[in-house]
Amino acid sequence: MAQFDLVILGGGSGGYACALRAAQLGKNVALIESGKLGGTCLHRGCIPTKALLHSGEIADSAREASTFGVNAQFLSMDMVAVNAYKDGVISKLHKGLQGLVKSRNITFVEGHGRLVSKDTVEVNGERYTGTNVVLATGSYAKSLPGLEIDGVRVMTSDHATNLTYVPKSVIVLGGGVIGCEFASVWKSFGAEVTIIEGLPHLVALEDESSSKQLERAYRKRGINFELGVRFKSHTVTADGVTVELEDGKTFSADVLLVAVGRGPVSANLGYEEQGITMDRGYVLVDNKCRTNVPGIWAVGDLIPTLQLAHVGFGEGILVAEEICGLNPRPINYDGVPRVTYSEPEVASVGLTTAQAKERGHDVVELNYDLAGNGKAQILRTAGSIKLVSQKNGPVLGIHMVGARVGELLAEAQLIFNWEATADDVAPLIHAHPTLSEAMGEAHMALAGKPLHAHG
Ligand SMILES: Cc1cc2nc3c(=O)[nH]c(=O)nc-3n(C[C@H](O)[C@H](O)[C@H](O)COP(=O)(O)OP(=O)(O)OC[C@H]3O[C@@H](n4cnc5c(N)ncnc54)[C@H](O)[C@@H]3O)c2cc1C
Repeated sequence: MAQFDLVILGGGSGGYACALRAAQLGKNVALIESGKLGGTCLHRGCIPTKALLHSGEIADSAREASTFGVNAQFLSMDMVAVNAYKDGVISKLHKGLQGLVKSRNITFVEGHGRLVSKDTVEVNGERYTGTNVVLATGSYAKSLPGLEIDGVRVMTSDHATNLTYVPKSVIVLGGGVIGCEFASVWKSFGAEVTIIEGLPHLVALEDESSSKQLERAYRKRGINFELGVRFKSHTVTADGVTVELEDGKTFSADVLLVAVGRGPVSANLGYEEQGITMDRGYVLVDNKCRTNVPGIWAVGDLIPTLQLAHVGFGEGILVAEEICGLNPRPINYDGVPRVTYSEPEVASVGLTTAQAKERGHDVVELNYDLAGNGKAQILRTAGSIKLVSQKNGPVLGIHMVGARVGELLAEAQLIFNWEATADDVAPLIHAHPTLSEAMGEAHMALAGKPLHAHG
């Protein structure tokens, strides 16, 4: 039996971040992974989808080249080349990560692990015992009852990231982040796309104003969507799939992408048997990611916090530092930046207007239209930056729509997390012409001194 300071089950964003930080702090770490080091984010999630979105952006640029005075033509997508480019990015990052884990002397164990006692994980008949055990087994793509995933006509994001052709038409079931990103990719690649969403808006967790702007932009791009209506049934035929909705409408397409959310990977892993408190498959933790069982911790998509890679990184680092006695600050989940990398992008940090009001804040709002921003005009993008602020107090939320606005979150999250007021930000000079100028100008306007804004 091998003995470690930390035994980590799952080598995705949460697990490997915890391993790297704990090893950096001098701990003896075992990291157990049944698939590939890097997990969902690197192999089936963030990285492949963003590569596909970038290919889509280039395709759109080729289509629109004449707008910018460039003689070029969009002919077609070469999916072999797209996948080679995407897989090349993944492979390089994967190799880098493997090297990093090795260089920190982390014991990397390949195989399916199971918690067999409060301090031991068994893999391939071998036992790994830890003073601390960190559960980081992540999540899987969910489906709906009766909606069988065949990976050909009916698929999840796991299949969609590796498609070797561009379907002529696609139905995307679910208008959340993953659904909207794939809708954007496929539209750029030349497919007819229809999104079906049961809630009243696309990206419904965002501020309503952002959802509405994305819907406007998607309408303009020719991406179809049905909102506030639920899926009823589907039929797979020889040449496609037909979906019936509860309102009686039917839609047919080459493929159906099921993007209805992700559930925790926790079944049959011994968690309940060891007395860990769980809820609908999620492992419950306190604000330092401790479970109710002393010495067992849990991070990432396995716990009911935001399902984002950078949240997994943050939680993994938090656990490593807590174990090492550094007493890190608990994570403020309101301050986590969120991006939907569609065209246009939707990005936010902090509270929506509705949340700020629910929490009893005296709210003021400011909408800065990107029409007044030079760089946005150069890029030919439309959108806005919306500030939600406490009256005469700190900025409570920043909500953005437009090309590349995800990059503006670096500043937005500092403003929110440092509880800056509009008066703090307004005097900061932003480089011209950049999109970030719009961040400065929005705060200038909120501070009562608008420059390139009416009103
Ligand atoms: C299509 C898609 C796009 C996404 N895009 C983004 C994005 O742009 N930005 C962002 O922040 N997030 C994005 N995410 C979410 C992000 O990928 C996850 O939040 C993140 O991967 C969670 O990390 P994790 O470590 O909790 O889980 P995972 O990355 O799922 O890692 C868990 C690991 O545990 C392993 N494992 C499970 N059970 C066992 C076992 N019994 N024994 C051994 N190993 C086991 C699995 O093989 C896996 O590698 C996206 C997700 C998807 C699906």
